[in-house]
Amino acid sequence: MGKQSSQSLADQLKPYVAPFRYDGTGEFHLKSHKTNERGGLDKEKGEKIIEANRKRLSDFQEKLYAQDRWSLLLIFQGMDAAGKDSAIKSVFDGVDPQGCEVTAFKVPSSKELDHDFLWRAAIALPERGRIGIFNRSHYEECTVVRVHPEILARQKLPPKLITRDIWRERFEDISCFERHLARNGTVILKFFLNVSKEEQRARFLDRLEQPSKNWKFNMGDIAERKLWAKYQAAYQDMIHHTGTRHSPWHIVPADHKWFARVVIGSTIVAALDKLDLHFPKVDKADKSEFKLVRQALLDEDKSRAVKKSK
Ligand code: ATP
Ligand code: MG
Repeated sequence: MGKQSSQSLADQLKPYVAPFRYDGTGEFHLKSHKTNERGGLDKEKGEKIIEANRKRLSDFQEKLYAQDRWSLLLIFQGMDAAGKDSAIKSVFDGVDPQGCEVTAFKVPSSKELDHDFLWRAAIALPERGRIGIFNRSHYEECTVVRVHPEILARQKLPPKLITRDIWRERFEDISCFERHLARNGTVILKFFLNVSKEEQRARFLDRLEQPSKNWKFNMGDIAERKLWAKYQAAYQDMIHHTGTRHSPWHIVPADHKWFARVVIGSTIVAALDKLDLHFPKVDKADKSEFKLVRQALLDEDKSRAVKKSK
């Protein structure tokens, strides 16, 4: 038997998951995470893992749905052009669309601003048996809102409640919210697509130069790029305070899109493998009823054949 077959799937995939995970234990330094890591793979080997993970994910999703107990919440954050959309598209290629729902969180509407900041995330959560994908999320509340104080000022909060503790309070509230979800059967995995400033520049240039990508270019993204250091500081603080065992962050090296997909796919597959998902078992009474129904269906065919021959 090969070495791999004696290992669980989660063990096999560990090299593409563990180095990138932050679950609140120990120190966290975003700066020490490399954006161009390849995990000792080349693109060809990476593609094979991506493809194998797609098949595994599709099989697990069927069981998750049939079992109807757990739900999976996947949260994607990252700077513009970090590759959130294309990673989601690639990792979920081939998964039954009926079992998944993607929600893209944009600038909040006036209705959304009339509620607490977790409200719109709460109503978009996956039902049991489903996979919910957040393309941006409630974490924008501690990144873009922190980098732009004018956005916070527009949130209609009672002024008395806006203190210097607001970010610590938001980290705390988000962690409690996620712990509550975890205790109710939602498996949460968070991904920060960690791209370098240089790679973002190359991707923006590509969007400007290739007519088919022009539509992706957004002038506003250039303004945000100028605030790069502020965003990195906000992400550092946020990941440090909201990475927990029930809701870990994964700092995904995102300069090589294929490697980001290896890490994301492996993380999801390894987490589902640990849930020990299986199709619901049919009990004895049902099984004997199945036998009767099956026989009746077979008999239908026989009686049709008799009729035809008459
Ligand atoms: P892409 O540019 O790849 O299409 P995107 O996620 O950047 O995807 P956009 O429509 O360009 O989508 O931008 C959405 C914008 O909404 C982002 O700039 C994001 O920071 C902002 N946003 C999301 N949530 C909030 C929030 N709670 N408060 C303020 N701004 C938010
Ligand atoms: Mg954008």
